[in-house]
Amino acid sequence: MTINAETKIVGLIGHPISHSFSPFIHNTAFELTGLNYKYIAFDVLPENLKDALKGLVALGIKGVNVTIPHKEAVIESLDNVSPEARIIGAVNTIVNENGTLSGHNTDVYGFTESLKKYKNLISNTPVFIFGAGGSARAVIYSLITNFQPERIVIANRNISRAEGITRHFSQVLGYKDFEVKEFFLPEIAGDIKSSRLVVNTTPIGMYPNINELPVPVDDFFHDGQVVYDLVYNPPMTKFLKLARRKGAEVISGIEMLILQASKSFELWTGKEMPIAEIKKLLLKELKPRRKKGKNDT
Ligand code: NAP
Repeated sequence: MTINAETKIVGLIGHPISHSFSPFIHNTAFELTGLNYKYIAFDVLPENLKDALKGLVALGIKGVNVTIPHKEAVIESLDNVSPEARIIGAVNTIVNENGTLSGHNTDVYGFTESLKKYKNLISNTPVFIFGAGGSARAVIYSLITNFQPERIVIANRNISRAEGITRHFSQVLGYKDFEVKEFFLPEIAGDIKSSRLVVNTTPIGMYPNINELPVPVDDFFHDGQVVYDLVYNPPMTKFLKLARRKGAEVISGIEMLILQASKSFELWTGKEMPIAEIKKLLLKELKPRRKKGKNDT
């Protein structure tokens, strides 16, 4: 579609942004739906964040995704922040309504939607999470508010970071059934085995390090388990292949990536993204682009 005087602009602010898949996802969706929008990636340095937001208002940009390193810092400059983004402490989508900026966290929607068909399987059972970074916070929020886990075990290299998360969610959501473990196999093997849901929220296994694994053996995966890897490049990680071989159901980070994008799309345009078609096209696009790198959103 040609750009004309009616074209509406949305985009991404982050640093770096050069390997993001969001321009591909959203511009393809605009083409498929015939909406007169374009999605542009803006490389914004931390010291320019506030000016970038003022520019967004001044230019009438309809909204942006927010990625590393601005997801937390952006909150103080927004007029409204959704309750979940406030609790998680990170915004990944901003909507500009006539100069009023509202912040949302669509990662929660992406994770929740992609997991909901397993709700009965995982409710009131133990859950195991590798990692305690930004995406782990969205995952934990989703689990506590939608899936009622019996307990959440978090394994992280940096123990105090994981403890910080458990303190935070105990305070704000009143959920207390956490355990924090060292990222060290003998310590966590039993927990992985007894968990119905295992989630990798670390970048381990992401292109180009596709042979790396959060855990080096597959003895504790089995059927009746759901194993979720937030890494989406490659779409089927070595970790997921191992778990699948042992009979577990597996979910690729691609699902969350597309669903979080679809929510942003809906917030900006009021329309539904054609998810199935975008997924097909993204999987094709990911093959050649594996050579170059990645970004979250
Ligand atoms: P982050 O905030 O930087 O957190 C990274 C986490 O991974 C931390 O807990 C870190 O541990 C751990 N970690 C990193 N490298 C490690 C290693 N070599 N060994 C053990 N632990 C390691 O990153 P994030 O935003 O949570 O993103 C994490 C991954 O999720 C990325 O691959 C990202 O692309 C993916 N993601 C996917 C989606 C999606 O839609 N599919 C959405 C968001 C994120 P320490 O605390 O010890 O440093």
